Amino acid sequence: MSGIYVHVPFCVRKCGYCDFYSEAGCGPAEMDRYAGLLAAEADRLLEAFPHLSGTGTDTVFFGGGTPTSIGAERLCTLLASLRGRFPFSADIEVTAEANPGTVTAEGLAALRRGGFNRLSLGVQSFHPVTLDLLGRVHGVAEIRDSIRDGRRAGFDNIGIDLMFGIPGQTVVEWGYDLHLATTFLPEHISAYALTPEAGTPLGEALSAGTLAMPDDETVAEMYELARRTFSAAGYRHYETSNFARAGRESRHNRKYWRREEVAGLGPAAHGLLFPPGERAPFGIATENPRSTAEWGALLESGAFPGAMTARDPDLAWSEALVAGLREACGVDPGDLARRFGPIPPERQAAIERLVAAGSLLREAGRIAIPADMWFLSNEVLSELV
Ligand code: SF4
Repeated sequence: MSGIYVHVPFCVRKCGYCDFYSEAGCGPAEMDRYAGLLAAEADRLLEAFPHLSGTGTDTVFFGGGTPTSIGAERLCTLLASLRGRFPFSADIEVTAEANPGTVTAEGLAALRRGGFNRLSLGVQSFHPVTLDLLGRVHGVAEIRDSIRDGRRAGFDNIGIDLMFGIPGQTVVEWGYDLHLATTFLPEHISAYALTPEAGTPLGEALSAGTLAMPDDETVAEMYELARRTFSAAGYRHYETSNFARAGRESRHNRKYWRREEVAGLGPAAHGLLFPPGERAPFGIATENPRSTAEWGALLESGAFPGAMTARDPDLAWSEALVAGLREACGVDPGDLARRFGPIPPERQAAIERLVAAGSLLREAGRIAIPADMWFLSNEVLSELV
């Protein structure tokens, strides 16, 4: 079974920390043009990878950008056009990322009727000052309203995203965010440490010294507090930044962590495809241009817009280890060997070193990063690859 990722490159306005590809201030004409081009891209994808018309699709994820900024009607039309081209499984997970303040009760009801069954809400914080500093378009009241309206619309699978390690944020404030998040009883919670990106307003304020990041110890304390709070509230920490009620893990994101097949549509979308046969035994990565204009021009010229790169075994192994070790259950090297051939000797040596140092656990044929080292998982992974 495959997944489909759709990148919706529009936002109401750019948040001060954001490095994702999206454009603010676009109108209905640009959105309609985008929707038409996306359907054309789906056709091109099927021409280039005809196996996708037969493998079955069990996850679709509309991310961005702010998918809900183009309106429920366009999103439902896009989903219907995908359903007409790719065979959807009966139990498909269909997620829309949504930002509070960009959804209405009627819009959420329309999404649910149109086949969306999971909402991923970009909450980030319950503190007005922090929301302001991040440049979010919503306040706390809109967060509460969108969760309530999502439930009333029939969404029984709602995830919320939170952010920590923000300039000016204290451990006490973060603890309040964590507690409040659990009171809304979401099925899924993501907690990401802010990564300042050069070139964003926040990155520039940090470079200029007008803002300062919390120190590493404080950020580590925030991470541990999230682990403790969510675990006490019945969530399982199943991936370095993700917590879920049993059975409510993100099936779509798991496809990335497990290097399974995901087709990427829309500007800046990435995909990983496994056409059967000898064409590319270790997979083909696709990468669309980070520009709606360029993406659209390629489609209008009749081309497939994604750059394609065939994976070799070493790259396939590296990517599978880096992505898979983000999950609590880790990876099964035997399974990876069946997919990507024998493990490259230098990777095996690195695994042995990390196991001996206690930075990796080996149990029942799997390797995993110990839970108490998850905050440092990037360091472990960089040693590995
Ligand atoms: S809403 Fe999301 S994608 Fe849009 S600017 Fe903010 S963080 Fe970036």
